[in-house]
Amino acid sequence: MSDSREWEAGMRSVELFEQAVKLLPGGVNSPVRAFNAVGGQPFFVDRAQGPYVWDADGNRYIDYVCSWGPLILGHSPPDVVEAVISAARKGTSFGAPHEGEITLAQEVCRMMPSVELVRMVNSGTEATMSAVRLARGFTGRSKIVKFEGCYHGHADAFLIKAGSGAATFGVPNSPGVTENTVSDTLIATYNDIETVAEQFEAHGDDIAAVIVEPVAGNMGCVPPADGFLEGLRDLCDKYEALLVFDEVITGFRVARGGAQERFGVRADLTTLGKVLGGGLPVGAYGGRADIMAKISPVGPVYQAGTLSGNPLAMAAGLATLRRLNDDPSIYLRLEDMGRKMAQNLESAARDAGVPLTVNRVGSMLGFFFNEGPVDSYEAVTASDSNKFPIFFNALLGHGVSIAPSAFESLFVSDAHTDEVLDSTATALRIAFEKTLEAPRAKGA
Ligand SMILES: *Cc1c(COP(=O)(O)O)cnc(C)c1O
Repeated sequence: MSDSREWEAGMRSVELFEQAVKLLPGGVNSPVRAFNAVGGQPFFVDRAQGPYVWDADGNRYIDYVCSWGPLILGHSPPDVVEAVISAARKGTSFGAPHEGEITLAQEVCRMMPSVELVRMVNSGTEATMSAVRLARGFTGRSKIVKFEGCYHGHADAFLIKAGSGAATFGVPNSPGVTENTVSDTLIATYNDIETVAEQFEAHGDDIAAVIVEPVAGNMGCVPPADGFLEGLRDLCDKYEALLVFDEVITGFRVARGGAQERFGVRADLTTLGKVLGGGLPVGAYGGRADIMAKISPVGPVYQAGTLSGNPLAMAAGLATLRRLNDDPSIYLRLEDMGRKMAQNLESAARDAGVPLTVNRVGSMLGFFFNEGPVDSYEAVTASDSNKFPIFFNALLGHGVSIAPSAFESLFVSDAHTDEVLDSTATALRIAFEKTLEAPRAKGA
């Protein structure tokens, strides 16, 4: 491995990591950050601006992680930073209603017409967990359908691996999650509507909701097949179950109104996060007014939060959504830059003779080391992810940072200019060539 590694964490990062592992499990507060999937140790970030992050040793990287999706305007956009600072001057938390909550809610409801009422929470995990509770409370049913390879945060009900068949009950895939907790979670296959129909045929009267990433973003990037989202809508209507779009990644990312606008399918409930918080911890769930009216204090479904609607977080989210609304060409630019990044990946791989499939929806991308098409979780897991660590480290060594896992999306922000993409292309070329050495380096 060390033969093929082009990059090593700098001295300061190594020192910091040594301290961190003594205090934080694995040295991190969220597991993928630890670089376990790519070997070596992570760099520690000192600061970030626009498309760049700088590590603690002063190295600069072009960043396609974008904090795992939130930073659609790039790092520290001046208007967002100013909004947070002026909000902080008026108080960091009230635990009481304030106008910023209304303004952000207005913006959300305007951008996403299916969202008639919205509840702010503090993370995407909280949003999906609460949305499922609400769906169960509203329908009086207990089961949910989720898709293999879709991620909905770390709440117990979602931490489940599919059994051998799509029609089986799930088995928890984390110690600490009891079989009872996931016994109401049914698994289906993404982009395979038949597997959903089968679950409904077997359990139709008990299914409260289908929850789906309308563009899968946590198995790389896998767009919905033609008719898949419409098929989910039809099945939910037929069996009177709710359709929950987990738009924590796609909301305000793949279109102003999220995946539901881009693909023209209306959800009953939508979960949001990431871009919504403009880099601060925010999640939200919202949807049909009659469903949302079941939430406490109007209705009986309980859900609360000490810091929910936090004024700094509302200000960051509002500044971000305002920019997305006020700049008429921003989504065209994001589309262009996303397309250019995809083309750069494809042509660099082709020139190096490396089989590669690139999936893209707007400024959200995924790539896989195989010929494709990659339109299912099965195809994702069949790709040659052995090449990924070499590719990843070679890229870092040439100043480009992507997520340290083969199963994450890449994000382009509005701060990624043509010049930034051009210098990325050079690094991509070198990194793909490096992957050709992979088998030899391993066998040596
Ligand atoms: C990131 C993510 C979540 C979880 O959000 P957190 O803020 O990390 O809790 C949920 N759903 C999807 C689709 C996500 O990508």
